[in-house]
Amino acid sequence: MEKITTHTVVLGSGPGGYSAAFRAADLGLQVTLVEKFSEIGGVCLNVGCIPSKALLHVAKVKDEAAQVSEHGISFGEPTIDIDKVRAWKDSVITKLTSGLKAMSKQRKVNLVQGVGEFTGSNTLLVKGPEGETEITFENAIIAAGSRPIDLPFLPKDDRIINSTGALELKDVPEKMLVIGGGIIGLEMAQVYNALGSNISVVELQNQIFPGCDKDLVQPLMKRIKKQYDIMLETKVVACEAKEDGLWVTFEGKKAPAEPQRYDKILQSVGRLPNGKLIGAEKAGVEVDDRGFIASDRQQRTNVPHIYAIGDITSNPMLAHKAVPEGRLAAEVISGEKNYFEASVIPSVAYTDPEVAWVGVSEIQAKEQGLNYGKGAFPWAASGRALSMGREEGFTKVLFDKDTHRLIGCGITGSHAGDLIGQASLAIEMGCTAEDISLTIQPHPTLTETFMMATEVFEGTVTDLF
Ligand code: FAD
Repeated sequence: MEKITTHTVVLGSGPGGYSAAFRAADLGLQVTLVEKFSEIGGVCLNVGCIPSKALLHVAKVKDEAAQVSEHGISFGEPTIDIDKVRAWKDSVITKLTSGLKAMSKQRKVNLVQGVGEFTGSNTLLVKGPEGETEITFENAIIAAGSRPIDLPFLPKDDRIINSTGALELKDVPEKMLVIGGGIIGLEMAQVYNALGSNISVVELQNQIFPGCDKDLVQPLMKRIKKQYDIMLETKVVACEAKEDGLWVTFEGKKAPAEPQRYDKILQSVGRLPNGKLIGAEKAGVEVDDRGFIASDRQQRTNVPHIYAIGDITSNPMLAHKAVPEGRLAAEVISGEKNYFEASVIPSVAYTDPEVAWVGVSEIQAKEQGLNYGKGAFPWAASGRALSMGREEGFTKVLFDKDTHRLIGCGITGSHAGDLIGQASLAIEMGCTAEDISLTIQPHPTLTETFMMATEVFEGTVTDLF
């Protein structure tokens, strides 16, 4: 067995892990990065954010090409070469993962491939394709991420897939059931629908994206209702795998009376943190029942020299939360007195239209009894949205009525995911309605809608400074 010592070991090379490793190396620490797969980049680059967005891009181009016929340009019926679509998606992943490998090399981060498990408070055993390595460390950063939840009552069958299987894009099923109307499920539904699948979505709650303000979801719902069969307040209670397909029984408001046949089922009902799979208890690190490893505002676990970041430590499970947590853990290890201080973390569904929100939602503002005021701007009045033929969007801003500070924002429409960044910045900077409405935005752009929604709020208040 090979034995190595390192100042800091990082377990897992997703966005949290590689950001931690790179930051630690930049700060002059000697770093070892452990990853079970041959490629680094974790879920996000290999089977998450990036491949899904590459496929969504293809889906969007196809849908837009069809839509532009209303504006005077018509194309023929599209032909889909699934192998080429897959190759495009894979090429995007390869560009990014090989870039990461080069960056690791440049920083002299020691990469060890294999499955890592703690064997003590300062030791990690890695079982890799080349044999075993024992790593003795002074500090560890746990960045081992999460995995999709499997519904226990579904049979074991190749035709029942999760997001990883969906992104492999092996084929395009004729009829596909998506279990779960959350972000990942609806992004994948959009991809497969564009490629030709007949999609049904089943969701337990009374809306898609449970927890998101209903008005934000409406424009998306209106569009996809025409494309898929959406069963809200309904659940799958049984599934039988037969030769001719997967026969599913439903219960609830929209449940069909008879079992329905599907060629494929995508289960997309959330993710579980990997805390119970890494021998954390042998290092004395506490793991809760679900598999989360709690960390403080410096990312420290209950064992002071062991840190936890990203999906494994807390919700929301998002790459843009894992990255700053990873960088922070490295900085704390190198002696900097920094804390996780983000006041808001945006959420984005890259569906069409996109749905994005940040800060306090209207549901939360009401629940918490906040003294808030609202401004909403329908994109039907935006010159840019109209010239794109996408006037279904809207921008909503929530302000604290006493301070006039922005506390929340929701945007639905094309590029909402890019637009929401302005609101994140404004909340972090403590911007007031006046700061936003007096900021000159370029015309004609969708960013103007942020300013215009704010002006609508200003029209509702009389005590402007
Ligand atoms: P991960 O990316 O999960 O990486 C953990 C790594 O640790 C993995 O590479 C794993 O192989 C490795 N590992 C685990 N255990 C061991 C072990 N014992 N030994 C060695 N290695 C181990 N987030 C966004 O912000 N935007 C998006 O658009 C978005 N889209 C998504 C789409 C899909 C389909 C999915 C599934 C997720 C998406 N996410 C998105 C979520 C995002 O991928 C995760 O939040 C992010 O990857 C978490 O980063 P992480 O560093 O915590 O862990």
